[in-house]
Amino acid sequence: MASISRCYDSHAHFVAASVFKYGIDCSQNQWELGRLNQLRGSNSDDFVIFGWGWTDLTFILQRLSQFEEEQAARRLALSRKDGHALLINEPAYLALQPKLLRLKQNSDWLLQHLQHYPFQNKHYFVLQEGLGIWAWTQLLQSQEGQLDFFLLESQKLWREAGFTHVRDMSGNWKQWQALMSLEQRGVWHTYLVQNFEYHPFLILEEVIDEILQAQKFQSSHPHLRVGGIKLYLDGTIGFKTAAMTCGAGPFCGSLLWSDQALEDTIAQIWARNIPVCLHTIGDRAVAQALTIYERLAQKGCEGIMHLEHVEWVQKRDLPRFQKKNLVIHAQPCHWLADLGLLKSSQHPSLEDISLPDESLVFCPYYEWLKLKIPVFWGFDAPIYYPQLGLNWRGLLDTASMVHRVWGVSLPEATALSSWTHVLRVGHEYPDPSWGACCVSDFDENNAWRPEGIACG
Ligand SMILES: [Zn+2]
Repeated sequence: MASISRCYDSHAHFVAASVFKYGIDCSQNQWELGRLNQLRGSNSDDFVIFGWGWTDLTFILQRLSQFEEEQAARRLALSRKDGHALLINEPAYLALQPKLLRLKQNSDWLLQHLQHYPFQNKHYFVLQEGLGIWAWTQLLQSQEGQLDFFLLESQKLWREAGFTHVRDMSGNWKQWQALMSLEQRGVWHTYLVQNFEYHPFLILEEVIDEILQAQKFQSSHPHLRVGGIKLYLDGTIGFKTAAMTCGAGPFCGSLLWSDQALEDTIAQIWARNIPVCLHTIGDRAVAQALTIYERLAQKGCEGIMHLEHVEWVQKRDLPRFQKKNLVIHAQPCHWLADLGLLKSSQHPSLEDISLPDESLVFCPYYEWLKLKIPVFWGFDAPIYYPQLGLNWRGLLDTASMVHRVWGVSLPEATALSSWTHVLRVGHEYPDPSWGACCVSDFDENNAWRPEGIACG
């Protein structure tokens, strides 16, 4: 049995986890509204129907138009399996339209990120990357009662897995207000670090002001802490949108920011003493983040930089992670979903995903361990729901798959005992004074023992 103090999930899309639990599972042939109907009650027609898990747009449009025949003109928002594209119907689009018109991007940019798909006399829209992520939050928060309900449902999900501390990546001012009022009502018990999202089509100063405002309330809310500002530098492995070095990785993908725009934005955030959290999956996105950190440091501009995911890394970049204000958040379970998607979309077997050269390292957990660089673990829910055993499996499987598929030899550090320790340390909230009494017990299979949680 192992105990973890302040058991911590360091990267979650907190509210999305329960929204998807109740929503439509688009990967299934039969779409169930049963769970959704249970919770809607009297104001059922006002709730947005959420779903996720689609991969093929043509297939999903056919399924959707059939589904819509059975429904009234409800707002509908379905996330692609990686969460980086959102398919909405016309009522949802109309609800978003006033906000879309206020975005600061020009119409060319909007047209690139918002595609219109007429299908059988109906109108559907796909919103790409940050635009889809932003729209999803807007739809969730557009309806009275939805956000509170799903926040509390998500709290149950983490509690039932033994997690008392969570770092949420997908917040904004509205969600912060909801959390504060839930805590005031005495129903909020999760130690939650709230990061705020920023996308280039929003106004940065407004997000900064919201964070500074939220910080003022922190001291009167013992379960809540304000984190930093989250930016997306690239996409995902599963849909080949992560930024990889062309010719070295299995695909190229692309960067979502220019170096200059990223440098200016981070400088502006650090100037207010706010940390940045950068979604970086491909090696090119990781290298871009490290370069900007170094460029700003040379100019005397410093701040905290969190790197999220960091799945592929250039071998030569490994020593560049040894930086005082750099914090790594990785999800060992993530590779299962990523490689599963790659396999199903293009490659008949994992062995076909070959690396043309050896300049890249995949999930460099062992290398960081050797360099004594600390890593915090998470699950990237809703990609995976929190479950300690999953990351344990991810750590071991990553090691063995990397070994089997790409012939990389495993360092001695992969001995089970050291990995148990690594798993435990990376799942512990680093500040011992926050939720100091929280301890969660897990059995030898890293499953949570329900009697083993103590926390105020
Ligand atoms: Zn994430």
